[in-house]
Formats: sequence, structure tokens, C-alpha cells
Amino acid sequence: MSKLSVDLKAPNGRSFNLPTGLFINNEFVKSSSGQTITSINPANEEEICTVEAASALDVDKAVEAARSAFNDPSWRNMPATDRGILLYKLASLIELHASILATIETWDNGKPYTVALNEDLAEVIFVFRYYAGWADKLHGDTIPTTSQKFAYTLRQPVGICGQIIPWNYPLAMAAWKLGPALACGNTVVIKAAEQTPLSILYLARLIKETGFPRGVVNMLNGYGRTAGAAIASHMDVDKIAFTGSTSIGKEIMKMAAVNMKNITLETGGKSPLIVFEDADLDQAARWAHLGIMGNAGQICTATSRILVHSSVAASFAVKLQDIIHSTSKLGDPFDPFTSQGPQVSKAQYERVLSYIEAGRREGATIITGGTPAPECGGKGFFISPTIFTNTKPTMNIYQEEIFGPVVITTPFETEDEALRLANDTTYGLGSAVFTRDLERAHRVAARLETGTVWVNSSNDGDVRVPFGGVKQSGIGRELGEEGLRAYSTVKSVHVNLGMRL
Ligand code: NAD
Repeated sequence: MSKLSVDLKAPNGRSFNLPTGLFINNEFVKSSSGQTITSINPANEEEICTVEAASALDVDKAVEAARSAFNDPSWRNMPATDRGILLYKLASLIELHASILATIETWDNGKPYTVALNEDLAEVIFVFRYYAGWADKLHGDTIPTTSQKFAYTLRQPVGICGQIIPWNYPLAMAAWKLGPALACGNTVVIKAAEQTPLSILYLARLIKETGFPRGVVNMLNGYGRTAGAAIASHMDVDKIAFTGSTSIGKEIMKMAAVNMKNITLETGGKSPLIVFEDADLDQAARWAHLGIMGNAGQICTATSRILVHSSVAASFAVKLQDIIHSTSKLGDPFDPFTSQGPQVSKAQYERVLSYIEAGRREGATIITGGTPAPECGGKGFFISPTIFTNTKPTMNIYQEEIFGPVVITTPFETEDEALRLANDTTYGLGSAVFTRDLERAHRVAARLETGTVWVNSSNDGDVRVPFGGVKQSGIGRELGEEGLRAYSTVKSVHVNLGMRL
């Protein structure tokens, strides 16, 4: 193995070799600046290993590689069916290596191994297979105009795609962005979040093994303000796709303006979950629990505001507490019985605790949780599942994305009030509504100002269904057929069939 790799043994006993370099032109290389990132296990705060971090110069090299690959006949003229075959092959290789990839994800991010393997990796494989199938089914249209004109459209790749991903679902976010980009024939420079640099390095090795031509996929680690900004502001990057915070999303938009990049943003959320008086309260409480406590609350569509009809508010709160006490098990993410791991980093841990403190100060009531998890012995970034009641729309904990296992509950009296409260936010990513009244379910779904509405569930997304936000939750859609639009452009061709001047 080259020097740019490290032999590791994970806490679950899995041994593997991990590349540590920047993946450019199908090779792992050193950072030109010598900058590195050290990955920390959030469950015990110990170092895992150190990897190379890209400078602006490294981004230039990666973009150059992506441009050459884009112009190279080996990729440019590859039949779409063959692009699909490569994506299928990548999915199969990921499946073969799924337990190692899940091990890395759990170690680096802190999510339970059972979740990493059965949910994250399963989704990654599904996404690549789904977009593999699309590769040779993308086409333009013929458009009837006049007898002297033949007009048609070509659906073509955008070009060099810069992709900046977050730490909450490192591999899944990479797959959401790589799958459609490659199916459409683009080339890519993707940057992982500095909190979770490891799993994309193993994925990069599988991409090479799959047989993608050199430069088609370039994978970098690096800091947001250096590598991320260099990608977003690069004059030779044609598109930028970003998932992360709303504030950085706005900065990306400004940087992308330098050459008017095509842009897709998936940013934050403060998603409401509405429980009407006729809802199946047991089911509502179970889905509400999954919708906010899953992934330790680090989900952009986490249903973090529960709006519940006043007549059932008390019994719903009891049910939610019971579910937390009976099913939430915090601790070692490699323990198969653990349902909630630590927050991803010290910074996130402190941020979530500071919101809990702010909620207390603002006069909201904590009915469960509200502390670092005592059962985890003081090491690691664990926070107890927390429920606030007595919250008001004027409170910070009501308006701002906490991104942790913290939910606020607010009572309402009427459907109109529920909708007013639900829509009283600058965000518009997800929402959920619980009712047995079919008419009300559709009526409310139509009026919720969000990119996704779940009826009688929460956060059960599907790779085949588009995903994205309105308002300050983003621009454009990922996943599903819609996700292909973000990675292709339409060229109109007018053919003169005999008009003479
Ligand atoms: P962030 O937005 O800072 O980071 C997301 C990605 O953007 C990372 O890859 C990062 O390196 C990159 N980045 C950061 N600054 C950049 C810049 N100036 N230019 C280009 N790229 C840059 O998010 P964070 O600080 O890690 O998390 C803060 C909050 O963001 C969280 O608490 C949560 O509210 C939200 N968040 C949302 C999602 C989501 O899925 N929507 C994911 C992660 C974080």
C-alpha cells in the first residue's frame, strides 16, 4: 500500500486499509499545502486518523482533471448504457464492502452501526442502482412547429459539477449527488465535510476499482472556507450542489455568481409535525419519535416542531415520553442495541446544549431530557432526547434549527391556527400531518409551505421521490427523476426544412 493510506482497526474489530490522500485523476495524492484533518470518534473523543486536506491549488488540479475527463472521448462518447453499467457495478462493489463502509461511517460519525449498515448503506446502493437505470433513458423531445422546421431538444450534461456535502449522512449525501451527476454524463469534484472525512476515501477506492475513467470523479477532503469556497467560486466549475446550513448556502450562492453557476441547494429546516384530534395517537407518537430522534436529531427534515391539538396534547406528550423511555437507548454506536449515538462533534454537542439552555431561559418547560446523557459516563458527545412544552413562536428554540435530539411541542385549537403556526418559519423543507380525515389530510398537505409533506408518517423518504425545499430551505430538487434535471441542460435545435430568405 502507498504511504497515503493507513491500516486501521475499528472498535468493532474490523481491520481495513484506508486511503488518506486527495483523490484526483484516480490517484491518491498529498495536499499541496500540507494541511490535514484529524478525524475524531465522537463516541469517546479519541483520534481515529489524519487525512490530507485540499488547498485552493488542489481544487484547481481536481477541476482541471474533471475538465480533461469531461472532454475526453472515453467519457464524453461513452454510450449512456455503459455509464449505467458502471453505476451498477459501483453499487455492487459498495454492497460487497458495505460492512466496512458502515464501520467507517459509525466510527467517524457516531451513528449506530445497525443504522449505518441497514439504512445508510442500503440507501447508497439503491441510489446508485436507481440512477444506473436512468442513464440511458434520458432524452430530449421533438416539438411540432411548422412544416418548414424540425425542432428538437437534446438533454446534455451540465459539465463540471462541484458538490459540497455535510456530515450527517456522508455516504448517502455523496450518493445523492454522484448518482444523478454521473448518470447524466457530468464529471465531478466532491468535497466531504471536515467532521466526517473518512468514508468517501474508501468510496473513492471503489470508484477507481469500478473502472470510471480518470478524472471523472475527484473526491477531496478539506475545510469549508478553503476547499469549499475554492470549489464554489471556481471559474471552470459549471454547477454547484450544496447540502448544509442555510447561512453557508447563502454564501455559496454569492460565490457561485462569479460565473453564474447552475445551482442546487439543500439547506436547513424546522419541520412541523401536526397532530389533529382525530389522529391515531400511538402511531403519531411513534413517527414523531423517529422523525426527531433518528440520527440523534441530525436530519435536515427532522420534524422538530410538534403542533398538537390542545384536546390531545397531554396524552400525546405522555405517549412520546413513554416511547423515548422504552426505546431510546444511548451508548456505544457499535452495540447492536444502541438506537442513538453521540452528536457528530464537540461543536455540535455544545451548540445543541446551548439551545437547550436558551429554551430554559426563554421560559419553555423540559418534560424529559435536557442534559448530556448521564448513562454514557461523561465521554463522547451524547445528549438525552429532550422534549420542550410551553413553547411560543417568538422563542429561538421554536424558530432555529437545533440539529439535535430536541423537540418542541405547541398546542393549537383550529386547522387554520395549525397551518399558521406550521408555516410561521423562514424554512420550508419537510412537514408531517396526522389525521384520519382524508379530506383534511389533502387540504392541509396543499397548504403546507414545504417541499415534502408526509401524511401519517415522518421522514420515510424514498429515493424515487423528489426531495428539496422551498423558502430558505433550498433551491432545486434531488432524487427521483426530478434529480436528473439538476444535472442536465436542455439544448434546443432548430433545423430549417426549406425556409428560404
Ligand atoms: P456547514 O454548512 O458549515 O457545512 C456543510 C458543508 O459546507 C461542509 O462540507 C463544509 O466544509 C462546507 N462549507 C462550510 N463553509 C463553507 C464555505 N464558506 N464555502 C464553501 N463550503 C463551506 O454546516 P456545519 O457548520 O457543519 O453545521 C452547522 C449547522 O448546519 C447544523 O447545526 C445544522 O443546523 C446545519 N446542517 C444542515 C445539514 C442538512 O442536511 N441540511 C447538514 C449539516 C448541517
